[in-house]
Amino acid sequence: TVWTPAEDRYETIPYRRVGESGLKLPAVSLGLWHNFGDDKPVAGMRATLRRAFDLGITHFDLANNYGPPAGAAEVNFGRLLKEDFAGRRHELVISSKAGWDMWPGPYGDVGGSRKYLVTSLDQSLERMGLDHVDVFYHHRPDPDTPLEETMQALDHIVRSGRATYVGVSSYGADLTLEAQRIMRELGIPLVIHQPSYSMLNRWIEEPDERAGGRNLLGALTEAGMGSICFTPLAQGMLTDKYLNGVPEHSRAAEGKSLDPEWLSEQTLEQIRELNTMAQDRGQTLAQMAIAWTLRPQESGQVTSALVGASSARQIEDSARAVANLEFSEDELRRIDELVTD
Ligand code: NDP
Repeated sequence: TVWTPAEDRYETIPYRRVGESGLKLPAVSLGLWHNFGDDKPVAGMRATLRRAFDLGITHFDLANNYGPPAGAAEVNFGRLLKEDFAGRRHELVISSKAGWDMWPGPYGDVGGSRKYLVTSLDQSLERMGLDHVDVFYHHRPDPDTPLEETMQALDHIVRSGRATYVGVSSYGADLTLEAQRIMRELGIPLVIHQPSYSMLNRWIEEPDERAGGRNLLGALTEAGMGSICFTPLAQGMLTDKYLNGVPEHSRAAEGKSLDPEWLSEQTLEQIRELNTMAQDRGQTLAQMAIAWTLRPQESGQVTSALVGASSARQIEDSARAVANLEFSEDELRRIDELVTD
C-alpha cells in the first residue's frame, strides 16, 4: 500500500529563511550520516523518514561518504524516496556534499578540485536516483586547491542544473567571506554554511582574528548567508541517553565517531545538571539542546538545527524542541556557567 503523509504536517514546525535567499528550511532538519548505512535495517530508516516528514521536516541532508560503506546512505535514501516519496520531490530539500576521501586514486581524495566535486556529485545523483539536489556543499576547506577553482566548480554545478543552491561546510569566517566575494563576482552567491555547533562546541561564536575579530555567525550575517548547524546534540551526549551508562547499539557503544572517553564523570555531571534544567523548562534535554542552538544572538542566528536520529521516536522527540524556543537571561547564564568551566 502507498504511504500517505499526515495532512497537518506543515502546521507545527517553523520554516526560516536561509540568509538573504528565498529558500526556507524547517527549524529542525534531519541528517543521514550514521543511521542509513547497510549496517542498519531498512525498516528503521523508513520509519524515521516518514515520521520526520509527517512532522514537517522537509529537509534531508546527505553526503557522498555517508554509510557504511561510503555511498550506502545515498543508495538507501534513494530507494526510500522512490518507494515512499514518489510524486513529492518538490516538497523536499535534499542536500549532498563532497570534500572527504571518497574513492582511491588522485581524484577521489583531493578535497576541492573541480574534477572531484563535479564527478562526485554526478555519482551522488545516480545513487539517489535524482537529476538535481537542492543544496550542494563543499564539505571542508581544502588548502591545496585554489579557492577560485572550488568556487568556479560550485558555480558550474548550479549553472549545469545539478544543484539549485550551493554552500560550504566547516569553513572559517575569513575563508567564508572570501568564498562569498568570489561567488558574488561569479553571480551565484553561496546561500548556506554548515558548521558544527552545540552547547559543548561554540567555535562559531568565537572571534576570528583572521576575519578582523568577527565570529562565523557575524561573517554569515554580513555575507547574507544562513546556517544549518550539525551535531547540535553532540552526537547524543546532550540527551538523556548516556546518563545511566552506555546503552547497547548506541553510537558510543558501536565505536563510531563518539569516543566513550568523552563521557567523563565531569561531563556526565554537567549533562545531569542540564537535564534537570531541561525538565524545569518542560523539555527533554535533547529538545533544550536543539532550542539553544536556534536562539537569537548578537551577531546572527542559526537557521536550522541538523540532527541525526536512529529511530522515529528520536526524531519525534527532537522535532518537539520548537514547542519552547525561548530562554531567559538567567537560563542562558546558567548554561554558560555549567558547560564552560
Ligand atoms: P546529533 O548531535 O543530532 O546526534 C545524533 C545522535 O544522537 C543519534 O544518532 C542518536 O544516537 C542520538 N539522539 C538523537 N536524537 C535523540 C533524542 N531525541 N534522544 C536521545 N538521543 C538522541 O547529530 P549527528 O552527529 O547525527 O549529526 C547530524 C547530521 O549533521 C548528520 O546526519 C549529517 O547530516 C550532518 N553532519 C555534517 C558534518 C559536516 O562535516 N558537514 C559532520 C557531521 C554531521 P544513537 O544513534 O546512539 O541512538
